[in-house]
Amino acid sequence: MTGTVIKSTGSWYLVREHGTGVLHRCRLRGKFKHKGLKVSNPLAVGDQVEFTVEEQTEGAGVIHHIEPRRNYIIRRSVHKTEHAHIVAANLDQALLVVTLVSPATSFGFIDRFLVTAEAYSIPITLIFNKTDLYDDDLSGYQDQISTMYQRTGYSSLRCSAQSGEGLAAVDALLDGKVTLLSGHSGVGKSTLINALVPDLDLKTAEISEFSDKGVHTTTFAEMLEVRAGTYLIDTPGIKELGLVDIPPAQLAHFFPEMRALLNQCRYHNCQHVHEPGCVVREAVDKGRIALPRYDSYLSMLAGQDNRH
Ligand code: GDP
Ligand code: ZN
Repeated sequence: MTGTVIKSTGSWYLVREHGTGVLHRCRLRGKFKHKGLKVSNPLAVGDQVEFTVEEQTEGAGVIHHIEPRRNYIIRRSVHKTEHAHIVAANLDQALLVVTLVSPATSFGFIDRFLVTAEAYSIPITLIFNKTDLYDDDLSGYQDQISTMYQRTGYSSLRCSAQSGEGLAAVDALLDGKVTLLSGHSGVGKSTLINALVPDLDLKTAEISEFSDKGVHTTTFAEMLEVRAGTYLIDTPGIKELGLVDIPPAQLAHFFPEMRALLNQCRYHNCQHVHEPGCVVREAVDKGRIALPRYDSYLSMLAGQDNRH
């Protein structure tokens, strides 16, 4: 049988059988080596697996094959610091939920997330939540920010998880895809999930029935079914996509508006700070590259990107 891992507790995996949608609690048999990366978990949410269910132990399956991953996101392992922890695999896209007020998400945070998503080649859309709190000024400001990101190739939507405004468009964006939902705490991710996933309480109860009791785990990612073929991955406690070490010389490649200019600077090793003949700086001065984006670039270059 084949299925998708929808939750992992480290020792057990919850697998949704393809076709029927039946949930199976599975173990992993054998050693699975991950190519090129030391990982602390062999399987993650979103993994496609082959498994068998032994008749005498109802509901318990054994996973014996993991399909190669199209992509995956990782963070540093909490327990084995030299290892990476695979958070989720086989994503179609990510949504970054942001807010302008209560709280305001910083450009630094947004741009760092976008850079990481570029590095993972995961398409991303910004979701501006809490539009019910907007007055005309904020609404105009949101338009400006959306336009700025649109010009660099990132689209955005606005909604209110509370009032329901704009949610149909968010829902349409999810259709038929596996979507990672991210954002700083307080931006309304849980409220949004509640609004988008029907019968969430029932599904959560069903899923937790399978999870190990008494095992004290750090929070694990979970794949929620919006409807057949449409899934949301929630990563409680993880607000960033982590662990992509980008050498300073490569950083500009992950800003699409800079990437287009890169071979035109006078010095081939230009880092676009003070160097003479820098076309990136020139584009910033002429307003073709937005200043907040360039500021984010400079902070990341200086390694000051851990501030929020
Ligand atoms: P999370 O930390 O991202 O999961 O955020 P929550 O969903 O817990 O929401 C944080 C707070 O923002 C809660 O008090 C929510 O009621 C509130 N909230 C969420 N969405 C909206 C919204 O669209 N408008 C307003 N005004 N408040 C919201
Ligand atoms: Zn330059």
